[in-house]
Amino acid sequence: MQLPDRFTRRSLLFRAAGLAVAGAGAATWEVEEAGAGPRAVSSGAVSCILSPEMTEGPYYLPREAVRRNITEGKPGTPLTLHLSVVNASMCKPIKGAAVDVWHADASGVYSGVQGVTGTFLRGIQRTDANGLALFDTIYPGWYRGRAVHIHVKVHLGGNVVHTGQFFFSDALTDEVYKSAPYSSRGNPDVTDAADSIYRNGGSKSLLSVKKSGSGYVGSIVMGVHTG
Ligand code: FE
Repeated sequence: MQLPDRFTRRSLLFRAAGLAVAGAGAATWEVEEAGAGPRAVSSGAVSCILSPEMTEGPYYLPREAVRRNITEGKPGTPLTLHLSVVNASMCKPIKGAAVDVWHADASGVYSGVQGVTGTFLRGIQRTDANGLALFDTIYPGWYRGRAVHIHVKVHLGGNVVHTGQFFFSDALTDEVYKSAPYSSRGNPDVTDAADSIYRNGGSKSLLSVKKSGSGYVGSIVMGVHTG
């Protein structure tokens, strides 16, 4: 049942923001200020929404290693991922979900496919009681035809409950790619706005990125359906 579900999420969003729902039957957001409404959702202030599903692409491999550090010595700007999984209907953190990530190295290459050996830049972590999974990796490189991205799958109880891709702002990519080892390849041939997958919900899959030491921390909350 889509309708009750939508209203449940909506009222929870208002509750999370400490606001009363003005009219439970109304089909639009009544409150746009003080941390509620679509603007707050897109800014990340309120994040209990269903993450958009996106293609897993051609380079997924099952049975990746369970490990926090997936770099295997691959050079690049350090990136720590703070990936949270919540139930998109109840807004509750999900403990014990297996978060599976994979991405290209600084030269735009994936491990284990297309004749490339190794398992670099692939891994799985279980979410903790706060729904949080952490990875230590590097900022991804780009490959032809795609904006910079990281692939993700979330497994729960043996089922895949989410398949998505994380994106970075073009401005951040431009900044990171000024340095080696990225600088020798120039900038991606596709911006976020020009990316066919980003155009279908990618703005809800932008990592929130903060500088940290010589690298960055990228955070996002994934709202998933569990049933
Ligand atoms: Fe990819």
